[in-house]
Amino acid sequence: MTVQTAPELYQPTSLDDAVERLAIAGPDAAPIAGATWIMRSPSRGESFLREYVSLARIEELRRIEDDGASLTIGAAVTHARLAGALAGYPALEALRQAASASANPSVRRQATVGGNLCTRDFAAADLVPALLSLSARVILAGPAGTTTAPLSRFLATRDTQPQGTVLAHVSVPLAPVVSAHARLTLRRAGDYPVAIVSVSAALDEAGVVGSATVAVGSVEPVARLWPELASAMTGRPLDADAAVRTARELAGAFTPRTSVEADDWYRLQVLPTVVGRAVRALERRGRAGRA
Ligand SMILES: Cc1cc2nc3c(=O)[nH]c(=O)nc-3n(C[C@H](O)[C@H](O)[C@H](O)COP(=O)(O)OP(=O)(O)OC[C@H]3O[C@@H](n4cnc5c(N)ncnc54)[C@H](O)[C@@H]3O)c2cc1C
Repeated sequence: MTVQTAPELYQPTSLDDAVERLAIAGPDAAPIAGATWIMRSPSRGESFLREYVSLARIEELRRIEDDGASLTIGAAVTHARLAGALAGYPALEALRQAASASANPSVRRQATVGGNLCTRDFAAADLVPALLSLSARVILAGPAGTTTAPLSRFLATRDTQPQGTVLAHVSVPLAPVVSAHARLTLRRAGDYPVAIVSVSAALDEAGVVGSATVAVGSVEPVARLWPELASAMTGRPLDADAAVRTARELAGAFTPRTSVEADDWYRLQVLPTVVGRAVRALERRGRAGRA
């Protein structure tokens, strides 16, 4: 019988210490945040690593700071806390909705922003498309110092980050936009969403879209932007029915995935419907803003 030794837990109180420890410990160590993904490693057929470096006692990773131009969110902020903090930020409604709709209340009290963005092989992460649609940037702390990058670039390089890299903060511009997050589940307890659409749009006084950003999660293995749909929405008033039609025409650009929740073809089939829900929510917000 193979007995796996319990992993060691290192609990630094500074980010520098966490990065240094991870760099020294090597590939058999990783950060641990809310542990909602790591604790289920055995159910995915994965072994625990030899050591985890906890981010829970690092004060700066738990802060949310508003400097007037952007909101900087620490990686260890939980979904529940984020949802509460965003109540006063109507432009960031997509992110508030994502943080309040993921999983269930007890998971939302544990799962963190950093964990959501850093979990490999988790296609249905809700905060990822929401933050993509709001043009978020990530701040990474690593052995060679601190770097910032658009979230989209981080996602493309996530699996090849140097050992010791910790996602420290996410910075979201406080732009005058309306935004929304829509997700479709198959309505079974604990289900992951089959498709997720997050949209933001800057509207002029007549309600015409000056610019739009659309992001799609859970359809492909990693969430991504949908610039072609965003372009088609620009220069005209918000129109959910038109967005659904365009989404149907353009959906062939995706390479959907199959998982236990849904087949590839089904994700593509429902994607335009989820687009429609998100844009309809934007229409309501746009009207409320002009009233
Ligand atoms: C039953 C269930 C259903 C769920 N459904 C959803 C859902 O529908 N939508 C959703 O968004 N979430 C859902 N979640 C929550 C999901 O697990 C978390 O959102 C997230 O993927 C993990 O966050 P965590 O803080 O628990 O990370 P952990 O489990 O602690 O870590 C996950 C991974 O991220 C790495 N990591 C964590 N933080 C950092 C960091 N700051 N820098 C570098 N690497 C880091 C770890 O090393 C590990 O590889 C669900 C969870 C459960 C248990």
